[in-house]
Amino acid sequence: MKKEFKTESKQLLNLMINSIYSNKDIFLRELISNASDALDKKEFFKIQSKIVGDTTNSIVIDVDTEEKTLIITDTGIGMNYEELEQNLGTIAHSGSKEFLEELEEKDTNDIIGQFGVGFYSSFIVADAVEVYTKKEDDKGYKWTSNGIDSYEINEEENVEVGTKIILHIKSGDDFKQYLDINVIEGLIKKHSDYVKYPIQILKEVTTTGEDDKEIVNFELTTINSQIAIWKKAKQDIKKEEYEEFYRNSYYDFNPPMSVIHSKSEGKMNMDMLVYLPAKKSFDYQTPTFKKGLDLYCKGILIDSNVEYLLPDYYNFAKGLIDSEDLSLNISREMLQQDHVVEKIKKTVKSKIKKELLKIQSKKREEYELFYEEFGRTLMFGVYDNYGENVEELKNLIMFKTSKEDKYSTLAEYIINNPEQKEIYYIAGESIDKIKQMPIMEKIKDKNIEVLYFTNDVDEFAIQVMNNYEEHEFKSILTADLDTKEEKEEMEKLSEDNKDILTTIKNALDGKIKDVRLTNKLENVAVCIVNDNDISIEQEKILAQMPNNDFNIEKILEINPKHVLFKTLEKSNNIEKYAQLLLDQAMLIEGLTIDNPVEHARLLNDLIISNEQ
Ligand code: ADP
Repeated sequence: MKKEFKTESKQLLNLMINSIYSNKDIFLRELISNASDALDKKEFFKIQSKIVGDTTNSIVIDVDTEEKTLIITDTGIGMNYEELEQNLGTIAHSGSKEFLEELEEKDTNDIIGQFGVGFYSSFIVADAVEVYTKKEDDKGYKWTSNGIDSYEINEEENVEVGTKIILHIKSGDDFKQYLDINVIEGLIKKHSDYVKYPIQILKEVTTTGEDDKEIVNFELTTINSQIAIWKKAKQDIKKEEYEEFYRNSYYDFNPPMSVIHSKSEGKMNMDMLVYLPAKKSFDYQTPTFKKGLDLYCKGILIDSNVEYLLPDYYNFAKGLIDSEDLSLNISREMLQQDHVVEKIKKTVKSKIKKELLKIQSKKREEYELFYEEFGRTLMFGVYDNYGENVEELKNLIMFKTSKEDKYSTLAEYIINNPEQKEIYYIAGESIDKIKQMPIMEKIKDKNIEVLYFTNDVDEFAIQVMNNYEEHEFKSILTADLDTKEEKEEMEKLSEDNKDILTTIKNALDGKIKDVRLTNKLENVAVCIVNDNDISIEQEKILAQMPNNDFNIEKILEINPKHVLFKTLEKSNNIEKYAQLLLDQAMLIEGLTIDNPVEHARLLNDLIISNEQ
């Protein structure tokens, strides 16, 4: 009997057929998923009606290159007449109206995946579809359609229990691949590897008979591995098995630092298998790197590398989530609005944090190695979005310090320095460079513990943080380290040397904001500081960014105990030397000087006058 599709179904079919849907491959996943559901239903029905005995549970795929058909057969529950009519006669039954409304405003490619188009995705690759189906103790039926305007349902003899779908693959280069057994096998492996029923392909096997004649046989080969590693009980999985899965799935040949494997049941059902790598992947921090987790629903891959599931600061994590609470047809665009996905995201975040804290406290060395690799990523997380993630990350970050060449957490720093209200830090390109800084002598002398900030982002990040457990961060360069006596002494010296300081300041007019004496230097004569919250290290980083032409005013600081200053006191050439002092202070800081040629000339004059 021939029947017309409903109007909205027609519109949709038309759309599907003509859409240049970017991911044609999904049809196979959809049909296999339906077959798997039908097998589930049969099992369920069997349990309910107390039927005993074995029935074969399998999904068989057959590629017929001569007929140009792809056949998917399952031994599942099958459909009766009403069900066929209801299920395959009305497209996208549940969401068809919304679907069409969405269509008006959006790109079709984006939305096809969002609705229950399931079975109808067959028409992306087929120009005619036959469905043979039969329920236990019922008649068999044949449903056929070219997907354009009508379908036909007829009774059919000799139909076996279950459902067989014959796709007449469209002609054209884009579709040829679906008649290639290797392509089909690849698609099954990729999307349906962990479907719990065997997915078998009918393969031609040629053997040689007694009289050297070739004998052609057909054999069923199971393609999918059926049991997902994440579905197994933790205690049944060996370390090597976890590592092999990691290596094969994420192409990292270094064993991961840790494996997080968990199962949630009840309010939300999900299995989580997430790895924290020990080393950066080769493409980490390149544009080709993809963060994200693979998302499965009942063992069927919905989407790989779903970025949304991982915050940027945990972008190194690899793994997957399998949740039966998700809809198989959810699209990337819809994921972000899905409340199940939102819950998954939260769980993932908190499990990763918990694991990192555990390793930090129990396997410190491993954590430190991990931190060498990914510490900068965590610091970027602290800085990101005006410190939105500070609470999440503040106990995961660490710094090397001036006390030992070991990492210290912020909590440890506070415990180690109970008298201090502030957390001191010093920023520089590397620890070696920091160690050469003039201030380091003083730090050693006073036995102060200072955090080393060697990531470009560190100083910016802690400015966003502002404090840790009410301890404010303070650059050691601007910290007040002098005792009362030292301060008074410095004030007196400044007063006594007012004239020299004014002369130097005038000689450098327009180049610096001020000249003053400092107590923080020992064997170095001068240094320079910014008259601003932006430190010189930050200024260097900002200067590398495009379109940066800011100018931060500087203050020249002079060490009154240095022999150079004592020499200046007696000199008549202060004005001439002032420029050299400023230049050397700039060079010590790793900054460029305004006029290198002039600097060389002054220095040469000095050598010449000294040697003549
Ligand atoms: P969905 O699977 O999202 O419900 P489909 O369009 O793929 O949407 O399928 C519609 C319905 O048709 C299914 O819910 C199921 O009842 C029925 N169906 C599809 N394929 C099969 C099958 N292989 N065996 C039994 N029933 C099926």
